[in-house]
Amino acid sequence: MSAAREDIVTPGTETRNFLAEKHRLLIGGEWVDAADGATIEIEDPATESVIAEVACGGAADIDRAVAAARKALKGEWSKITSHERSRLIWKLADALEANLNLATELEVLDNGMPRPIAMYSIVAAGINHLRYYAGWATKIHGQTIPVSPGGTQRGDTLTYTQREPVGVVGAITPWNAPLPMVILKLAPALAAGCTMVLKPAEMTPLTALLIGRLTKEVGIPDGVFNIVVGYGADAGAALAEHDGVDKIAFTGSTAVGKIILKAAAGNLKKVTLELGGKSPVVVFPDADIERVIPGAARGAFFLQGQNCMAGTRLFAHEDVYDQVVDGVAAMARAFKIGPGLQPDSDLGPLISAAQRKTVMGFIDAGKSSGAELVCGGAAIDGPGHFIQPTIFGRTNMSMRIAKEEIFGPVLCVQAFGDSDLDAIAEQCNSTVYGLSGSVWTRDISVAHRMVNMIDSGQVSINCHAAVDPAIPFGGNRQSGWGREFGQEGLEPYLKTKATTVMF
Ligand code: NAD
Repeated sequence: MSAAREDIVTPGTETRNFLAEKHRLLIGGEWVDAADGATIEIEDPATESVIAEVACGGAADIDRAVAAARKALKGEWSKITSHERSRLIWKLADALEANLNLATELEVLDNGMPRPIAMYSIVAAGINHLRYYAGWATKIHGQTIPVSPGGTQRGDTLTYTQREPVGVVGAITPWNAPLPMVILKLAPALAAGCTMVLKPAEMTPLTALLIGRLTKEVGIPDGVFNIVVGYGADAGAALAEHDGVDKIAFTGSTAVGKIILKAAAGNLKKVTLELGGKSPVVVFPDADIERVIPGAARGAFFLQGQNCMAGTRLFAHEDVYDQVVDGVAAMARAFKIGPGLQPDSDLGPLISAAQRKTVMGFIDAGKSSGAELVCGGAAIDGPGHFIQPTIFGRTNMSMRIAKEEIFGPVLCVQAFGDSDLDAIAEQCNSTVYGLSGSVWTRDISVAHRMVNMIDSGQVSINCHAAVDPAIPFGGNRQSGWGREFGQEGLEPYLKTKATTVMF
């Protein structure tokens, strides 16, 4: 199998023009160079060619951006009505929709994902997300609470609460779904009236910069949204520990999440963490196998497996094990692998040479662990960081490939017999992660019992990893703190002030 790269599709003129521009940091409404003039070269992971050069900020730039965000928090932005905030967020959604083709091509070139997936994710977790939170901006309010402090008579005292923006938000995002990761934080932050300094993943900053341009176009006041592209250990660390930041919204690996928590301790800033996963997909013998096969294949290999929700541990009952494994392997073998702009590509490259090396390390560990290599198992010759979708059968939870997050196209399958549901759930819960999961059965009692026992932030029945702005999303255990999406996703961007009045 080799990736078909002889026919790389050229991006449109608008995209080529965007790439050719000088890309700077967005601070206080101005596009500026990094204080030390540093830049980062951005690579297309499908061709390994440099497609853009972007200013690379550090601690000094984070200082400037945080100062701009603090100033904006008390400026014009604090005075506009919630209706106006709602209108601006909606306008940003319209502007993104009008630039959907550009955003999609930038996302494909930056990250490598196939074009239909980029477009779907930008609509579902970008445009729709902005419109969903545009609606919330006008529905944020406190409560009136009857109280009797210090033995006062009923009716003599009143407490009311107000919901205030938490303040300056530092957002740090990963490379696996670059644009949605920014919008998942920006939309609720704007709805709540916060300001933001974004540090996008250094490998994939292009759609974040497009969002920055659109925020200016639609009239979001200067300094409300600032972007400092830079490396994690430099700009990211400076943002996480900055005393001028009130809250960090982080999505990334569990290891870096723990570093963020320590850095945030200095001024006890609020922290939400969306971290890694190793999600189970449990198939009972009565399941509709025709639905299971594409559901499990897409669940595992969507975004080349570089997906926190990926269903990378497939538990299949012995009675249907062969049918499920054969079906998913047939799909994996049939996936067309190629650059994301090629119209028939089902899977793109991994993000980088380093990521491919890490994933191949796991595959080698799988091969020597005694697991059965069902399909794949090899890297594909370059250019481009392509890898075959890989399935290991007859795995067990003592194997490293079954326990650790691989973040690549590697599926581990385990069989189970007629053991009780508690034993299956225990297997599902036997990693440090608790992000997602799915149960496939026609038996509603089995489905709901399993849902209750799987310790994950979201568990689906007869589908995997459904995404909608209204569905709360986040992890249990070492998959994270807090939730994004839905009404719960707004909460971390608000704080409560209680006022008590004695008559
Ligand atoms: P990563 O943790 O390496 O990097 C994420 C971000 O943190 C990047 O912007 C990076 O520059 C920054 N960073 C790195 N070191 C830092 C430091 N010391 N201080 C501050 N910031 C720092 O993760 P990644 O490789 O970009 O993304 C893959 C990981 O993200 C996977 O573990 C995946 O499961 C997770 N993820 C989780 C979700 C979710 O919603 N739960 C979604 C997408 C990705």
